Amino acid sequence: MQQSKKFYSFFILFFSLVSFAFSQVQDKNLVDEIKKSGISFYWDSLSNTGILEKNNQHLVFRPDQNFVLYNSSKIGYIDSPVITDGQIKVSQDFLSEIDDFFAVSDDSSSLKIGAIIIDPGHGGKDPGASMTHKINGKNVTVKEKDVNLTVGNMLSGMLSKAYPDKRIIMTRSTDIFLTLQQRTEIANSVKLKDDEAVLYISIHVNASLDKKAKGYEVWYLTPGYRRTVIDSKTNADPTVRNILNSMMEEEYTTESILIAKFIMDGLNAQIGSKSASRGIKAEEWFVVRNSKMPSVLIELGFLTNYEEACCLNDKAYLQKSALGIYNGISAFVTHFERSRGFTGTK
Ligand SMILES: [Zn+2]
Repeated sequence: MQQSKKFYSFFILFFSLVSFAFSQVQDKNLVDEIKKSGISFYWDSLSNTGILEKNNQHLVFRPDQNFVLYNSSKIGYIDSPVITDGQIKVSQDFLSEIDDFFAVSDDSSSLKIGAIIIDPGHGGKDPGASMTHKINGKNVTVKEKDVNLTVGNMLSGMLSKAYPDKRIIMTRSTDIFLTLQQRTEIANSVKLKDDEAVLYISIHVNASLDKKAKGYEVWYLTPGYRRTVIDSKTNADPTVRNILNSMMEEEYTTESILIAKFIMDGLNAQIGSKSASRGIKAEEWFVVRNSKMPSVLIELGFLTNYEEACCLNDKAYLQKSALGIYNGISAFVTHFERSRGFTGTK
C-alpha cells in the first residue's frame, strides 16, 4: 500500500516535471517556421487575424485566442499565439498541430460554387474613368466602362466553357447603366441550393491625377455588417461563442482574401511583366456589402497612364488580363470545393 502510494506520488512528480519541461512556451517565430513547411501566411491587420494556407486547406487564428478554425468549419483548441516585438510567436505544440493538419488532405468536400457573378463596373450613361490619348497616331478615348465590359465578357466566356455546371452571371453584358442597388440585387437574388456558394467578381479600371501612377490592384471585402454564424444551440459557452462568431465572420473575409490572392497571382503571371502589382487591398465599403459571398474588386490598371492606356486599348492585353483573373478564380474554385467551403456550420 505504502509502496504504491509512493509510486503514485512519484508519478505525479514525474508528470509535473515532464509537463513543466514541455509547458508551452511561445518562443517560435511563426513566419520563419512555416516557411520550412511550405505553408503560406497572410496577415489581415484590419481584423487582427492570421491565415495559413497550403494544399488548398487553410486555418485561421488570432493572437491570444486558444483556438483556430480549420477550413472554415472545424474548431481546434491550441496554444494561443502571442505577438511579441512585432512578431507572431507560437509554441512547438502549435507548430506540430498545424503540420499535422496540413499533412492530411481533406476530401470531405460538400460545398460547391454554384454561381459566379461577374460585374463589369459602370456602363451606359456612366462611363467611369475616361481619357483621350494619341495611340498609333490616332486620338483614342479609352473608357473604363468599355474595358470592364470587354474583360467581363471574355472572363464569362472562359468560365462558362470551363464550368458548364456553374451559373456564370453577368450583371451587365452590354453597355447599359445599372445602379449599385441593382447590382447588389442581382447578386443577392441568385437562388442557391443548400450546398452551394456564390462568388462576386467586380471589374474596374483606375484613374489618377498623377499620370505616372500605374499597376493593377485586387480589393477584397471586409465585413462591414454583423451576423450570427454560430447559433445558440452550438455547444460552446457564450463567451467562446461570441469570439467564435466574430472569427467565423472573418471566415467570409478569409475566402475573399484567398480569391484576391489567387487572382493577384493569376494577374502577375499574365500581365506582371507589362504592368505592376500594387498589391491586395481591403475596403469596407463595397458594391456588394450586403451580400453573403466572397467578393473581390479588380482595378486592372490606370487609363490615365499613357503606357497602360495603350495596353488597356489592346484586345490581346485584355484577353491576358481576363485569363489571369480566370486562372485565379479557377485556383480558388479548386481550393474551395476541396476544403469544404466557408459556410462550414451547415
Ligand atoms: Zn470604376
